[in-house]
Amino acid sequence: MKIKCPKCKGAAELESDFSLVKCNDCDLEMSYGEYVKYVAHNDVTYSDILGDYAGSTEGQTAGTLDEWD
Ligand SMILES: [Zn+2]
Repeated sequence: MKIKCPKCKGAAELESDFSLVKCNDCDLEMSYGEYVKYVAHNDVTYSDILGDYAGSTEGQTAGTLDEWD
């Protein structure tokens, strides 16, 4: 079964018995339990980064768009 590789965002392969996640693109190889933890950790990190980014640049982005209009 194909799943999204948490490392390179490519197509990774999940064994049908959920024992192993493998990605040929970046040589990722981990158990499904590790994969779930890895993805969960990355999701939290990403939302933190995105939240900070949106908050700190909101005013600047609006100003820049107005100038281009
Ligand atoms: Zn990969």
